[in-house]
Amino acid sequence: MDPIRLLCDISEMNWIFSGSDTIDAFLTRVVNMVAHHMEAEVCSIYMYDAATGDLVLRANVGLADDAVGKVRLARGEGLTGLSVKEMRPISTPHASRHPNYRFFEGTDEEKYDAFLAVPIARGIFPIGALTIQRGAPQPFRDEDRAVMQAISSQLANIIENARLLQLMGAAVSPEGRSLPEAKPGADGTIPPIIKGRGVSGGTGYGEVLVLDKARSFDRYGAGRQYPLFTSGDLSAAIGATESQLRTLQQRVERKLSDAASLIFSAHLLMLKDNNFTGRMQQLAINGVNPPEAVMTVGREYAGFFAEQGNPYLREKADDVRDLVIRIMANLLPEEASHEYRGKIVAAADLYPSDVLMLSAEEIAGIVLIAGGAASHLSILVRSLRIPLIIANLPLLLCCEEGTAALLDADNGTIFINPSPPIVEQFEKSARDREAVAGRSAPMTPRTATKDGLRIALYSNINLLSDTVTLKPLVHDGIGLYRTEFPFLVRSTFPTEEEQFAIYAKLIDSVGREKEITFRTLDIGGDKVLPYYGDLHEKNPFLGIRSIRFSLQNRALFKEQIRAILRAGSGARIRILFPMISSKEELLESRLVVTECAAELAGKGISHNEQPKIGVMIEIPSVLEIMDDLVEFADFFSIGTNDFIQYMLAVDRTNEKVADLYCAHHPAVLRGIRRIVIAAAGERREVSVCGEMAHSPRYLPFLLGAGIRALSVDPQFLPLMQAEIAKIDSSEARIIAGKMLAAGTREEVERIMDK
Ligand code: PEP
Ligand code: MG
Repeated sequence: MDPIRLLCDISEMNWIFSGSDTIDAFLTRVVNMVAHHMEAEVCSIYMYDAATGDLVLRANVGLADDAVGKVRLARGEGLTGLSVKEMRPISTPHASRHPNYRFFEGTDEEKYDAFLAVPIARGIFPIGALTIQRGAPQPFRDEDRAVMQAISSQLANIIENARLLQLMGAAVSPEGRSLPEAKPGADGTIPPIIKGRGVSGGTGYGEVLVLDKARSFDRYGAGRQYPLFTSGDLSAAIGATESQLRTLQQRVERKLSDAASLIFSAHLLMLKDNNFTGRMQQLAINGVNPPEAVMTVGREYAGFFAEQGNPYLREKADDVRDLVIRIMANLLPEEASHEYRGKIVAAADLYPSDVLMLSAEEIAGIVLIAGGAASHLSILVRSLRIPLIIANLPLLLCCEEGTAALLDADNGTIFINPSPPIVEQFEKSARDREAVAGRSAPMTPRTATKDGLRIALYSNINLLSDTVTLKPLVHDGIGLYRTEFPFLVRSTFPTEEEQFAIYAKLIDSVGREKEITFRTLDIGGDKVLPYYGDLHEKNPFLGIRSIRFSLQNRALFKEQIRAILRAGSGARIRILFPMISSKEELLESRLVVTECAAELAGKGISHNEQPKIGVMIEIPSVLEIMDDLVEFADFFSIGTNDFIQYMLAVDRTNEKVADLYCAHHPAVLRGIRRIVIAAAGERREVSVCGEMAHSPRYLPFLLGAGIRALSVDPQFLPLMQAEIAKIDSSEARIIAGKMLAAGTREEVERIMDK
């Protein structure tokens, strides 16, 4: 067996995919590949039929030819059904002796007794199962199971899309459906200078492209006249679309190996679907002009998905529109509105996967109409070094074609159709900035205040690519690695193996001698997993977020902890639990780490036996129980982004209350001081890892209040080191004392302004 090749080579999946003409041919290639690599005589893929609750054999190698389509199992029936019902791998050297064994006459299954089934799932929802069998006596090992789980995770996305396409193929009537009407734009003109909030710095200049997939799609509305094309032109356009998507996929994978797992797979799969592009081609052969053929089928599919109740399925409508626009752009290049490169993209909202695609397309900047500065999309965009301004002007989404915009995201200013002198000035200051950056003073090896007080300066990491920025900089390790980004941009939960690979890469690139803090999965709130879509909550920020999600989904939590412990073998790792609100949560979470370490030790798998355990302070309840927590935590990290949100009851993503979101509210300042005092008794480190930590304005307070560790995004490290060096710690103590005594925001501001 060659597990590394099978596990890590995503491009192999792509290769198999490009070579197959239909989904069935693709699945057949997959079972052949898996059987070959796993040295199995039989390999099968079952697909879950949500309507009947059955598992249907969809692809197979090794059994009788007519087994596909014939073998059907209820959930829980047979070993395969059991694996899907219990959502766990089932492995046995003697399938026929297992109480759940189910024999299908005429399939030749009796010859292959060694059996291994792994469920294929989207989050907690079943999609199907992948099984392998061997003639006894060659039972499968634990290693085989881990590899099969990783393959199943890779397959989940593709199989889910295949299933949807199949569902779609059966549901759409040949006449097609009408699209909902496009929304009219608001009246009025767009002002030449718009003040917004710059949340990812830098500058960008380019033509505005309003990203509204439904609107771009409607440009090719019914009844439009097109020049005549041949079916050969259509094939060429589809071929060109496929190769462009593959190039984009490769570009994203090179740039962001942790985050970008097959983000274009839904598109590529549709390009292979007989009911989709196949039908477009059939219509063209029957005499329908190709642009109309593309739009007829595109409208049917987009309409079908847009009407679904499930938000996850509704999102698929955007995938369809995006793909159709890409094909149309290749048919009608002179009309192409889909060229993103160098553009300023304006959108009402974006998914993390959209941001990855746009980054692959090398856009010049983003203007978002909704969302707060600390929302997670902003954090992702910052990691990708794309200038981003949030502006509360929906009119921007009605920008006419050809409108130019200059984003000065450092100052939050958008210039619409700027005059040549403004553009020149902007280009000159960009050049100057580059020159200054090139000459900027190197960081000193030690971070300390003017009077020599040592301050630990850690870095926050969101994506593996952040470590590239980090390389030449001085830092004391990673104070916060937000592990959720690989979860947010995938179509299903990454497996333990995938997480292990990402974490190991991170440790390798940062160095084993440095402290690296893994914050466990922090989803919920504004960080929605699209594949965990059934989790509808009225108040998601007060719902199943962060550690609550992990503790309720123990199997997923343990996978993550095992992956961290394994990757951290021989390294200085720390595990940080987000959103802890009680001692019980801390103890329960600690116990999971202990259990995972014991399991790994039992199996003789090398791992880190004693990671330091930390608590993120984000929920005000912790202030009252700090004395109960200090004994059980090795360190604390104040997540000011959430701490402010919960302390002041201000949604951090809601622009309308952005003015109330205030780091220097007396309650926030005094809360920070109380944490420092409580932790000092047991000599526990308290760091600050929220956005407040990279603000020079708050630095005297933080140091004066007793904070001795800060964790900031890599780009802020030089600035913060230089600012720390300007501060005298006893002066800072006096300033902090005054700020702590102030009763209003205004009073605090006056002290800071002095
Ligand atoms: C915080 O809340 O301050 C924090 C660092 O976590 P996140 O921004 O990822 O919620
Ligand atoms: Mg937080």
